[in-house]
Amino acid sequence: MSKPRIFSGMRPTGKLHLGNLLGALDNWVRLQDDYECVFAVVDWHALTTGYEDTDEIRENTENLVIDYLSAGIDPEKSLIIKQSDVKQHAELSLLLSMITPLSWLERCPTYKEQLRELEGKEIMTYGFLGYPVLMAADILVYKAQVVPVGEDQLPHLELTREIVRRFNHLYKPILPEPQARLNDVVLLPGTDGKKMSKSYKNIIEISATPDEINSIVSGMVTDPRRARRNDPGNPEVCPVYAFHRVFSKPHLEDIRVGCSEAGIGCVECKQKLAETLNEYLEPIRQRREAILKKPGFVREILEQGAKRAGIIAEATLEEIRQAMKI
Ligand code: SF4
Repeated sequence: MSKPRIFSGMRPTGKLHLGNLLGALDNWVRLQDDYECVFAVVDWHALTTGYEDTDEIRENTENLVIDYLSAGIDPEKSLIIKQSDVKQHAELSLLLSMITPLSWLERCPTYKEQLRELEGKEIMTYGFLGYPVLMAADILVYKAQVVPVGEDQLPHLELTREIVRRFNHLYKPILPEPQARLNDVVLLPGTDGKKMSKSYKNIIEISATPDEINSIVSGMVTDPRRARRNDPGNPEVCPVYAFHRVFSKPHLEDIRVGCSEAGIGCVECKQKLAETLNEYLEPIRQRREAILKKPGFVREILEQGAKRAGIIAEATLEEIRQAMKI
């Protein structure tokens, strides 16, 4: 029996950070054995909010593929594609846009939320309003049955399912309703204790060198009330401890007690974290180095991906064109 198919993607908006790794990419790596996976760099989606400045999209796309590969996405097991290489995504998006009522898009919570968040930026475009349709096309062009998502993306997936029901009702029941597979929730703040986000400049990139890790960690915010080495600290309010909680599980109790009884200082505590992070990232670094030694490797992976994905996507489009009599 063939494995169920999964589709997921990320926008090429910069290098990936530890939050992306733990919140999504590590899940993808685990899914590769049980599912037929298509992992995309969704460069058209990057245009929906970043159409004004496209200078870095190509470079970011290449870096994102390197991040995927170095995190453990295996091109022998999974398809890695650039969305704009597989034109059927666009054709399907156009066809689905014909049957998607405007009200479904306007009520999408992330649409309203992003409008608020990106206030001042001119993003009230046709493409921005319609990006959930493009997202539906990304999934449905491969007839993916499963989509790994974070909780915040569930409304989009529900919209995809509504579009599927409408299509199947209007024409022919050929599209599967994709199911959500929730990513593990990992509570990792940014280096300043706020949400980890590129826009807050508080991230730790998965491609950081050991020296960069040492310097980022030594600059991390700690319990602000622990002013002197002899003051007892409160690990619960310290971002360094939040990282230890994720990465230093076997020593967590020692760190908690050490901090609250002033047995360890923040410098030592941060050194331990930097060592642990460097150990954790070492296999990723080694894979990255191996990839960088092979010029043209990323291009080859994307060419192969586009070829194989194109065959699946064209078969779906052929069925869809027939169903729509077009
Ligand atoms: Fe944070 Fe560690 Fe300092 Fe405690 S000892 S405040 S957990 S950095």
